[in-house]
Amino acid sequence: MEFNSTPDPIPQSEQTTSGLATLTGMHVYPQSVISARDAIFALGREGLDKRLIVLSARPLPGIQGVARTLKDGRALTVAPTDATHAASLRALLPHLRPRRLGLQTSAGMGDRLGVATPGHARAARGTGVAPIFAQQSMRENARTGRTPQQVIDDAMWGVFQEGWLEGYGADADHLKRPEDIDLCVAAGYTFFTIDPGDYVNNAAHAAPMQDLVAGLDESVPWADLDLTKEQLYDRYLNKTFDVEGYKIAFPPEVLVRAVMKYGRAIAHTARMYRRLASLTDDFELEVSVDETETVTSPEEHFFFARELKRLGVQWVSLAPRYVGEFEKGVDYIGDLAAFEDSLARHAAIARHLGPYKLSIHSGSDKFSIYPAFARQTRGVVHLKTAGTSYLEALRVIARVNPALFREILALAIERYPIDRATYHVSGELRNLPDPAATPDQALGAYLDQFDAREVLHVTYGSALDAYGDDIIQTLREHEEAYYDALEIHFRKHLQPFAR
Ligand SMILES: [Zn+2]
Repeated sequence: MEFNSTPDPIPQSEQTTSGLATLTGMHVYPQSVISARDAIFALGREGLDKRLIVLSARPLPGIQGVARTLKDGRALTVAPTDATHAASLRALLPHLRPRRLGLQTSAGMGDRLGVATPGHARAARGTGVAPIFAQQSMRENARTGRTPQQVIDDAMWGVFQEGWLEGYGADADHLKRPEDIDLCVAAGYTFFTIDPGDYVNNAAHAAPMQDLVAGLDESVPWADLDLTKEQLYDRYLNKTFDVEGYKIAFPPEVLVRAVMKYGRAIAHTARMYRRLASLTDDFELEVSVDETETVTSPEEHFFFARELKRLGVQWVSLAPRYVGEFEKGVDYIGDLAAFEDSLARHAAIARHLGPYKLSIHSGSDKFSIYPAFARQTRGVVHLKTAGTSYLEALRVIARVNPALFREILALAIERYPIDRATYHVSGELRNLPDPAATPDQALGAYLDQFDAREVLHVTYGSALDAYGDDIIQTLREHEEAYYDALEIHFRKHLQPFAR
């Protein structure tokens, strides 16, 4: 029979934790101890390695390790935290499987190093914000040398260690090619972010109207959109839609620019969606066009979403390209009043055509606009953060291993001119404090300086190539310090959205 309820956490009785510690000779994470399937499961640490501990009266499927029989006849097994045991444990304890989060207020916390989830869970506890603990794009996987499966497994061990029972999502982020979907479905992802950005025609934003009109027949994939030009005109031309009192109007120029800019992106999204839906029905979808040059106007959002709907695409979350600058790891840059005015329209459209969540990509450190997001979306929002768990790791390293931090900083300075190419950043090396003039105890200040944050943020791939093992080793040696830093950092992100 399928075990299908959430297991009870064992009360934090010192007895169980210390009993297991005595039996195994290991440090046992107190929050991890859990009773299910007539067995006790826990996570232990031996040196810097984590071990799965299982105490059970009968053998459990897929758990193989060093076992011994106790006086009372139960078997105590100590097994490696490898991919095989991650899969076995998910089969035994369903709360460790990623799941769908629906329209709940949610937040994604990318973890490029694979050791941050306990800190993320501590920050999420009690906020009512549903977490996505596993979240990586294919680009990040390429730079960190991890597979989609490893990303989920690492997050899952963190969920287990911290005794997080409330469920979590796993986001296969910025999927661009159909074959990436297959890989991520197989790994157990539940949240799929389709990024049709390569199919967005940014030139349509400003190209002369006569050129755009002349290109309509050729450049719009009418067959893929299951639409004729006449049907398009019939649906939109010179029409005005009332969206919670906002007038969304389609005079010829607005319509032609919208279909030329987003027509191919809509067709690609529908193609990706059908591929995904053919592989699984346990998924939720986000559509993101945030990494495009030109702002998504409310009219374009309305058009894009309404056409996706017509094609049968279902999604829980959508990321337009908002006005202003969303640079990595720093606060919002732009006019706050203009931002909120446009956000109010996007949020109204999301309610009118959905409801679906509005998603904030590059959402780390955008403290000045969180209140507007919480207000305008009424909590129907997804906050996506990524690289700042890495920056918090560097903050800890600056404190506990300044020599390593200096090496990472020197490499970042060397690599920034190249590595910044694929990121939206404006930080300049000339604004960095001089490392030679910075004493060890002041190195942490680099993590609070605008330009330095961006320089360190976008060079993570180079840093991991050169110093990945040293970074992980340092964080393992100081894991509580890392969890503390993450908890403080993410609390500030989640608090504005807490229920
Ligand atoms: Zn994004």
